[in-house]
Amino acid sequence: MSESIRSIEDLSLEGVTTFIRVDFNVPLKNGEVTDDTRIRAALPTIRYALDQGARVVLASHLGRPKGKVVPELSLEPVAARLAELLEDGEVRLTDDCIGDGARKVVQDLRDGQVALLENLRFHPEEKSNDVDFARELGTGCAAYVNDAFGAAHRAHASVSALPRLIDDRAAGFLLQRELEVLEKLRTEPPRPYLAVLGGAKVSDKIGVMEALISKVDALLVGGAMANTFLAAQGHGVGKSLCENDKLPLARSLTSTAEEAGVDLLLPVDVRVGDSVEARVAEEVDVDSIPSDSMALDIGPKTEALYRDRLRKAQAVFWNGPMGLFENPAFAEGTLAVARAAADCPGFSVVGGGDSVAAVKQANLGSRFDHVSTGGGASLEYLEGRPLPGVEALRP
Ligand code: ADP
Ligand code: MG
Repeated sequence: MSESIRSIEDLSLEGVTTFIRVDFNVPLKNGEVTDDTRIRAALPTIRYALDQGARVVLASHLGRPKGKVVPELSLEPVAARLAELLEDGEVRLTDDCIGDGARKVVQDLRDGQVALLENLRFHPEEKSNDVDFARELGTGCAAYVNDAFGAAHRAHASVSALPRLIDDRAAGFLLQRELEVLEKLRTEPPRPYLAVLGGAKVSDKIGVMEALISKVDALLVGGAMANTFLAAQGHGVGKSLCENDKLPLARSLTSTAEEAGVDLLLPVDVRVGDSVEARVAEEVDVDSIPSDSMALDIGPKTEALYRDRLRKAQAVFWNGPMGLFENPAFAEGTLAVARAAADCPGFSVVGGGDSVAAVKQANLGSRFDHVSTGGGASLEYLEGRPLPGVEALRP
């Protein structure tokens, strides 16, 4: 991590009203938080600030209200869950993230107390990175801490404009850890360093693929993304998800890898079904995918091949499921890779909303060295792109 960004530990917080941008964008169902991982992930920073005697003002977005008040996307269930997790803590939720109500709640805070601002995205100015909105958000706050890695790649008001208005700004523990881990992969990965990329689309991941090709020793490809590569090599992929307009790109990525001496591994066999709802999977080699079926997972030979590589890896970065893992008939490839990545002798990192969901579903989270809380942010960081939320913390 860049030396120039301060840590929350470098700030003096006693009696200081401290704005902490967290990522409480959690899944909800019937007004309840169904997975509180993100809330828990921010606890070390929140607790630290409270222990220091700070007056804590938390802020987050939740879902996609598109700049309007959507009552179902209120942070109320999050405030309730947070209060439980803080044990003796009370969490004062404001009626809006700006305005008189919020200002009053923030003003009335005493040392060691917590307020949570209502959903930032109820205002379009959050996404448009509006400076006046940012100034309102930060009213009364003399310190700023960003602990929302999942939002660090967005140039939004609470992440980008606001910290620039507050001199005492720093990274929280979660953000620091994310940057440390990814920086290590970006600049000095232990070798062999393997990347496993999957998911739905090549087009989502071109940038990171290009960046990784010059860094890794091998790139293992799976998921629907692999279909595009297989088609580019002339294989028939039937009704599989495949980006036909990206075949030239797949070919050029393949030759870039070749020139760089990087092994680009593609599936040698796949599990196919007649639709995404198929209950049974049929295993076929990639040169005999039936024209009326879809490749929905990597096959057992590919699993063995990838497992073999992962067994010798000293660093692994994994993003994107190997198949349509939401359907149990096509989850095996993803689980096999998850287990192999988790068990590799080296440093294992997984990032990406769906990949992390698969890892959790298989209870493998604790076996990874690092489970990133940011999908898009981790990819952009590895690509070498500056993250607006990180840049804004620099002096
Ligand atoms: P992440 O969120 O981990 O970055 P992506 O969003 O890129 O991953 O992709 C995940 C999605 O890709 C999942 O919904 C998964 O079902 C889908 N997927 C993976 N492989 C296939 C495939 N062969 N056919 C159809 N969908 C696939
Ligand atoms: Mg996803």
